[in-house]
Amino acid sequence: MSAGLRCPVCRAEWTDAPQCRRCRADLALLNAVESERRRLLARAGERLREGRPAAALTLAEQAAALRPTVEGSQLAAVAQLLKRNFAAAWHSYQQAQGAASR
Ligand SMILES: [Zn+2]
Repeated sequence: MSAGLRCPVCRAEWTDAPQCRRCRADLALLNAVESERRRLLARAGERLREGRPAAALTLAEQAAALRPTVEGSQLAAVAQLLKRNFAAAWHSYQQAQGAASR
């Protein structure tokens, strides 16, 4: 899902198409960044299931650098909790809340 993403040229809602459906802007690069972000988050989820929260957190942070999302912040919060880093977990949780209300 890429809910909330918009074409940087005309602000039309952007689906996964390589071109904007309204202005035909080339969105292939955005597509590549977005799929890389999803791949990083999927790997972060795998690391969590393996009980490796530090590795999961690194991947979640890389994903957030591409584009901050609710799911990324939630993943980071869980990873921080597993690391018993409660202050950082709270911070990530608040980021997830903030991203959700945008
Ligand atoms: Zn457009």
